[in-house]
Amino acid sequence: MDKQQEFVLRTLEERDIRFVRLWFTDVLGFLKSVAVAPAELEQAFDEGIGFDGSAIEGFARVYESDMIAKPDPGTFQILPWRAEAPGTARMFCDILMPDGSPSFADPRYVLKRILAKTSDLGFTFYTHPEIEFFLLKDKPVDGTRPTPADSSGYFDHTPQNVGMDFRRQAITMLESMGISVEFSHHEGAPGQQEIDLRYADALSTADNIMTFRLVMKQVALEQGVQATFMPKPFSEYPGSGMHTHLSLFEGDRNAFYESGAEYQLSKVGRSFIAGLLRHAAEISAVTNQWVNSYKRIWGGSTRTAGSGGEAPSYICWGHNNRSALIRVPMYKPGKTGSSRVEVRSIDSGANPYLTYAVLLAAGLKGIEEGYELPAGADDDVWALSDAERRAMGIEPLPQNLGEAISLMERSELVAETLGEHVFDFFLRNKKQEWEEYRSEVTAFELRKNLPVL
Ligand code: GLU
Ligand code: MG
Ligand code: MG
Repeated sequence: MDKQQEFVLRTLEERDIRFVRLWFTDVLGFLKSVAVAPAELEQAFDEGIGFDGSAIEGFARVYESDMIAKPDPGTFQILPWRAEAPGTARMFCDILMPDGSPSFADPRYVLKRILAKTSDLGFTFYTHPEIEFFLLKDKPVDGTRPTPADSSGYFDHTPQNVGMDFRRQAITMLESMGISVEFSHHEGAPGQQEIDLRYADALSTADNIMTFRLVMKQVALEQGVQATFMPKPFSEYPGSGMHTHLSLFEGDRNAFYESGAEYQLSKVGRSFIAGLLRHAAEISAVTNQWVNSYKRIWGGSTRTAGSGGEAPSYICWGHNNRSALIRVPMYKPGKTGSSRVEVRSIDSGANPYLTYAVLLAAGLKGIEEGYELPAGADDDVWALSDAERRAMGIEPLPQNLGEAISLMERSELVAETLGEHVFDFFLRNKKQEWEEYRSEVTAFELRKNLPVL
């Protein structure tokens, strides 16, 4: 038994923890959990815990349904909302096949696989997510419009605001679980919050995002409200993005940084961005995986009404340009480690493991193939006409999930990164969602057509 495993077993005893939840994530990014008694844990560390994978979205075909969850002791944390004795703790798991090989269906493994390749190339991949979400007054009722929990706006600081107490309690809880928070504020829409996590290696970030979502929902319940990560719950307000800042390090050195270069951006940094741009459309179905995701990206009326949708619709990059898909933030003089790129398409409903895997794959492809970075966009790209954008070589992101699926289906990069099983399952599942949506007569049509036709 190694030191981390010993630490876990000792803590269970000292803190009188009677339940250990083993966590993993399905292909669509939903958290799954199985509780084990502490007495079972020694064996779980050795052999894992068997479960029936066929019951979990995307995990197994019925004829090969046995799966094993093996806890990663490095992720052990006591759940603060179950801290009083007898307490509850959790660990993330790797999913294995009965023969002990990694499961082809485990999103965490999809990310680990490309991280191993990244490390072979001499890089470590760091990510820093800015997570937006809404607090709603009531539990969602099927098909009805929700009510935001407050009526504040961007950076508002008002005493009567649910968000403030909420953020304080939520951040305290995250910190007690070892998840550091850098910034938090009220976002642009009523009820909308943003919490930014400190940068960490991509696997820890993805684990942290899964924990984050649960913690937000938990704290919301305690405060009598509901948290939602749906990308665009309101037509007239901006949606919830999960912008992420990405960087590659070679040892202690930021590989995106070059002193004296334009924006202090090295050749590695430039090719990485070029990769993100060239593959942006084909990875969209992963970074923006729901029918609703495209309402955020193409939330036209939001933008013309000037309420600051600020979600990117076009594939371009810019320096400090908030209309661009990729933004190279201002470089902080003296901080050679701060060179990074912000990807603004990702929404809060994405599976963080798969999302970081495809973004990394796109960036690495740019480096390996030495892609040239096209000219940056200084203008507000939403304000340009289609013809102007075309003349500048700026293409749109997919307009809807259907288009995103067709592009993904033809993508070697995504097939290779997700692996055959996840790729097939994901496409099948998303096609079904698109079919269901496409055949539904919506409130929009009834409103538009019924009175006049
Ligand atoms: N809510 C916006 C989005 O959907 C982002 C606003 C911001 O720039 O933080 O991406
Ligand atoms: Mg924001
Ligand atoms: Mg941002």
